[in-house]
Amino acid sequence: MTVPAERPPTVPPTEAKAVMREPDMTTAPVPRTAHSTWRDLTAAQQPRWPDPALLAAVTAELARAPELVSAEESDRLTARLADVTHGRAFVLMGGDCAETFTGTTTDSVRRKLRTLLQMAVILTYAAQVPVVKVGRMAGQYAKPRSRPTETRDDVTLPAYRGDAVNGLEFSPASRTPDARRLRRMYDSSAATLNLVRAFATGGSADLREAHAWNQGFVRDSPAGRRYEDLAGEIDRSLRFMKACGVDPHATRGVEFFAGHEGLLLDYEDALTRTDPRTGLSYATSGHFLWIGERTRDLDGAHVDYFARIRNPIGVKLGPSVTADEALAYADRLNPGNSPGRLTFVTRMGASRIRDVLPGLVEKVTANGVAVTWVCDPMHGNTFEATSGHKTRRFDDILDEVSGFFEVHRALGTHAGGVHVELTGDDVTECLGGADGLLVQDLHRRYETACDPRLSHRQSLELAFLLAQMLRD
Ligand code: PEP
Ligand code: MN
Repeated sequence: MTVPAERPPTVPPTEAKAVMREPDMTTAPVPRTAHSTWRDLTAAQQPRWPDPALLAAVTAELARAPELVSAEESDRLTARLADVTHGRAFVLMGGDCAETFTGTTTDSVRRKLRTLLQMAVILTYAAQVPVVKVGRMAGQYAKPRSRPTETRDDVTLPAYRGDAVNGLEFSPASRTPDARRLRRMYDSSAATLNLVRAFATGGSADLREAHAWNQGFVRDSPAGRRYEDLAGEIDRSLRFMKACGVDPHATRGVEFFAGHEGLLLDYEDALTRTDPRTGLSYATSGHFLWIGERTRDLDGAHVDYFARIRNPIGVKLGPSVTADEALAYADRLNPGNSPGRLTFVTRMGASRIRDVLPGLVEKVTANGVAVTWVCDPMHGNTFEATSGHKTRRFDDILDEVSGFFEVHRALGTHAGGVHVELTGDDVTECLGGADGLLVQDLHRRYETACDPRLSHRQSLELAFLLAQMLRD
């Protein structure tokens, strides 16, 4: 059974037209399962699909498609994140704000992977802690929006909601949600994961290649030079170990996981599978899924769906969250209080983190809740530059991470990791950094489909500064 053939995008047909279509085998709804109770609740930020029959056909096809990741892999990530909860490791989450179908190329995926590996090696070597690596990759195709529409020159159209839903181009056809895009999301995620696995285990991620990870990047930046020095030290350490007769196999590849915001519940539901080992449900669209700041209603559909899957999961917490709400998330989403299952990704903003985070951490800790604390220093620090670009200051990002470390140090809790938006390219989207990027530079390479990302150099710089905080 296949999805109806490609046809040119159209403006939405009326709901009535869609409903009148004859039901047939290709549009039969997916049977409800134990994880589908979210359908009875309000799901925020879902697209208004103009053709429900097409959505049903696509999701029915996805429900029969092979899983993208296995339950065993997700369990392994839970175990790794449990080490973070216990203060024995650090987690690095990073990647695009919004992946795009055309941006899913070998080169761009490889550059992002290399950037993340470089950051991880900086943190591991300098701070001597294992670093769990989770790419915001292979599934980050759907975006929640603060406004449902966008107006340009008196023309109002639906907002861009990520390539999984509609197109970035500002035209009625492109902005009309098209459920066939969910299939493309699956295909692009599969292609990305394939590259990730090849890269992680095929030799490219061998620690002896640490120098090569810098190839193709501008090396004459301060961070690039520092990285070269560090790669030299790693080489010497590896040669020393070899001379001593130690040749650790563990350095020949890396463990790399994929995560995304579990926003589109029709998609996630279609890819939810029962683990034959245990009979439990897992999202198989990625290893780690998180609930966004705009969809974390305790009585809403997202919390219900997430409560029924067994993956390691995250909840984004903005400055309005209360400590009681945080406890309620732990209760609903991790009733067994298993370490590694639940991560709180705080995104307070540099100006709020030192006020808001202590109360949260104190109460959660006092209640014996097992949670991994991760800092997203991006989403609370976004503003519009005078040029009209959405941007962030490198200094604000750094300040929020510093605040995060300060709060945890003062309370004796573990600052578990960071969650950042980055790319392996030399984009000009965030202000500042060692290159001193200014507002007038933003237009040069402003390429993001949604939020501004750290460039490759800014990412390395952040990693060196973080390594310092981890060591202190
Ligand atoms: C995001 O991670 O891109 C995002 C929209 O974050 P938040 O839900 O924290 O606003
Ligand atoms: Mn974002």
